[in-house]
Amino acid sequence: MIPYGKHHLDAGDIQEVVDVLENKFLTQGDMVEKFAAALCSVTGAEHCQLVNSGTSALHIACLAAGVSDGDWVWTSPISFVASANCALYCGAKIDFVDIEPETGNMCPVELEKKLDWAVRCNKLPKAIVIVHYAGHPAKMAAIRDLTERHNVILIEDAAHALGASDQAVPIGKCIYSDMTVFSFHPVKVITSGEGGAVMTNSPELHQRLRLFANHGIVRDKNLLKDATQGDWYYEQQLLGFNYRISDIHAALGLSQLKKLDGFVKARQQKANFYNDILSQLPIQLPPTNDGVSHAWHIYVVGLKRHERKKVFQELRSKGVGVNVHYIPIPLHPYYQSLGFQMNDFPLAKSFYENALTLPLFPTITKEEQQFVLDNLCEILV
Ligand SMILES: *Cc1c(COP(=O)(O)O)cnc(C)c1O
Repeated sequence: MIPYGKHHLDAGDIQEVVDVLENKFLTQGDMVEKFAAALCSVTGAEHCQLVNSGTSALHIACLAAGVSDGDWVWTSPISFVASANCALYCGAKIDFVDIEPETGNMCPVELEKKLDWAVRCNKLPKAIVIVHYAGHPAKMAAIRDLTERHNVILIEDAAHALGASDQAVPIGKCIYSDMTVFSFHPVKVITSGEGGAVMTNSPELHQRLRLFANHGIVRDKNLLKDATQGDWYYEQQLLGFNYRISDIHAALGLSQLKKLDGFVKARQQKANFYNDILSQLPIQLPPTNDGVSHAWHIYVVGLKRHERKKVFQELRSKGVGVNVHYIPIPLHPYYQSLGFQMNDFPLAKSFYENALTLPLFPTITKEEQQFVLDNLCEILV
């Protein structure tokens, strides 16, 4: 089976991990700092808090934003469940904004409508989690314009979009948001095994992120409430977690980050190969808007005339590891039990019903891609 996604490690990556195992601290050594500094330099953000997963990163981003009991958080219905769960972890209530049918990203027009409604019934969100679906940047400038006067905190869920840019601004620079979250799960653009990060330009948010990732414990003398104690002294100042990443993971992440450009270029080239051939078939191709450099975490087509289930099963039976991204979050039984109705998100509903993810990863060969295309053509034509 050709998988829909796959990480790529080389001998250099493995050696970096072995070096940590043989010579260095396993955790809280210098690899974590180096990986964080490299992420700042790649994205252009001022600060980076590394953690043990993208999900932890979303959680502490919401906490740092001050999301708590009674607050509303909005996100996109077409995402992995973690984009919404982070709000519930904080005791907040979640709601969804429908998508653009082309990119699958949160739609600024839908957002404007929902904000107008929220103003009228006093339900404005404290924060919005914006997903760059598949690695195509969402319309952040437009979203910031709409939310600015309501003081909504914007968190970019860029789990798909490390290496992407919009108008030559890298995702992660946070010019239209307060924080940007990355994931380094093996299926993402680079991997650290498990891992995640929150980027921000705010020193205050960075300080809060660091606290929430480290039990809420402060050691910095300048930040202690009681500075009269000796050198042994530290304080827990709020309720945090142990969300730390290890040096083993950070070493792998740093080594992979050095290859980011190559990974993204390979994905772009392979996506273009699909685009060229598939433009002749009755399907909707994944778009790339003007000024966008796409990270192509996943390659998702929209079926127009064929039943998704049939196409999916047939391709799987031929050894093509197609997938579906995503089962809309409000459709999961847990979210159904909270009262969500898919009919409230008609664009997401129809996007989901027709979406099919084709295999795409940096090392997929031309022959493998041709095999995917031959099988798809046979079913669709
Ligand atoms: C993968 C992913 C996450 C979660 O990342 P983990 O590192 O697996 O916890 C969150 N949001 C989106 C959109 C993702 O694709």
